[in-house]
Amino acid sequence: PPVDVFDYIVFGATGDLTMRKLLPALYYRYRDGQIPDQSRIIGTARSSLSRADYQERAEKALTEFVKPADLDQATARRFLDLLHYVSLNGAEANSTWPALKGLLEQAPKDRIRVYYLATAPGLYGQICENLSTQGLVTEQSRVVLEKPIGTDLQSADAINDHVGRHFPENHIFRIDHYLGKETVQNLIALRFANPVFERLWSSDAIDYVQITAAETVGVESRGPYYDKSGALRDMIQNHLLQVLCLVAMDPPGSLEADSLRNEKLKVLRALRPIAPDDVAAFTVRGQYARGRSGDNTLPSYLEDLGEDATSSTETYVAIRAEIHSWRWGNVPFYLRSGKRLAEKCSEIVIQFKAAPWSIFPGTPRANRLVIRIQPDEGVTLSVSTKDPTPTDSLTLRQADINIAFEKAFGTRYPDAYERLLLDVVRGDPILFIRRDEVEAAWRWVDPILHGWAENKVPLQTYPAGSWGPEAARALLAEDGHAWHEDMT
Ligand code: NAP
Repeated sequence: PPVDVFDYIVFGATGDLTMRKLLPALYYRYRDGQIPDQSRIIGTARSSLSRADYQERAEKALTEFVKPADLDQATARRFLDLLHYVSLNGAEANSTWPALKGLLEQAPKDRIRVYYLATAPGLYGQICENLSTQGLVTEQSRVVLEKPIGTDLQSADAINDHVGRHFPENHIFRIDHYLGKETVQNLIALRFANPVFERLWSSDAIDYVQITAAETVGVESRGPYYDKSGALRDMIQNHLLQVLCLVAMDPPGSLEADSLRNEKLKVLRALRPIAPDDVAAFTVRGQYARGRSGDNTLPSYLEDLGEDATSSTETYVAIRAEIHSWRWGNVPFYLRSGKRLAEKCSEIVIQFKAAPWSIFPGTPRANRLVIRIQPDEGVTLSVSTKDPTPTDSLTLRQADINIAFEKAFGTRYPDAYERLLLDVVRGDPILFIRRDEVEAAWRWVDPILHGWAENKVPLQTYPAGSWGPEAARALLAEDGHAWHEDMT
């Protein structure tokens, strides 16, 4: 069903995120009849642009980032009519604010307002303060904060404090687009609607868990931004820890937002701390060196950064995490993420324990559940079946029970932002991160960053196009385990 009429005010409206993700996502929702025509999308940035200039840029973005078959010209035209633009320096309380105020006040006071902050996180607090000073924070206003919220616990606290002085916590939507991905939400359905899994979901039956977010791309044009962040801050602190929470949490009492978020928080707080002196035993960090993909030479990270660049930023991280709880005692959770890896793939692998005794020839094989977040969203359970080849004994062969969601349901899988952007309008925070979750995640990540800063674990290199540093393989081999691509 369509949401109520709203004004979506995007700060950073000329940036990469707005053009590549936000506008295409809003277009899809509009095309599908979920956005009422009286709604407005008001872009703001410092650049001096007319409304027509902005609409022209937005049109280009739609052409580039919406699938041609989905781009209906008449619908796109009507969508572009929803767009307005106000030139504004969000960080300054200067004379440009009245233009935004005037535009917003043309609408009824009780209209839903979404302030979407797609600028550098350093500006979030100041923008909220200015919104508040200008009297633009109404009862129906919500604010969306993009990642990263800070670079460590202290800076995250400062941002959250500043924003929190102007918006109540239940109007603050911290976005983690991984939670908007269909398969990530499907994890909740899979676990809590299918007792066949949940009954086995603990150290009784599970040997270990792997969560991977692998990219084939390098840093591209975002090198300067990425170099200040690195894979641990960019991927693990937010996306992978959120996925880990959904894999490991206890069943929430309901689908009410705080019920779910309370359970996620318990997982984050139960993570075994990795002190600076432990980083060598529990973490691997790497940076891609020059490598190959087929006949192509792939540049190193330093080459991607530019001439004469030096950097000790990690583009790869692997961590052996542990959760101190009855459910997960002795079950390692291996997390890894990297750029310029061999394949683009985000997935969760649940490796079950093998049968305690086998009556069949050969080594007993354990079941494995693979939840593919992207690409080809789906779930595969590998099982042992009887080998149909005629032999004189009953031998086994592995086969997969496979659901490929898109094929199974014959429907388009929406981009993560499509779901999340309208959840904000609906005021439903279930797929957004509460302040205490951000803090608990940083509390776990900070000591690892400190250990790395003190060089307690060497920065490994790995060839671009490979599966990462050898040390990451060794991290699992020490436990007698292997990464998914090395499993037999
Ligand atoms: P970007 O391409 O550098 O865009 C930044 C935007 O902010 C531009 O529209 C810029 O326009 C505007 N801006 C800068 N200073 C401003 C100010 N003082 N007042 C008002 N507007 C200002 O950055 P991005 O890649 O879109 O990223 C934006 C945010 O989203 C960042 O926090 C980033 O970490 C996060 N994010 C991005 C991605 C992504 O894929 N790009 C993914 C996840 C999260 P003017 O220069 O005209 O002011």
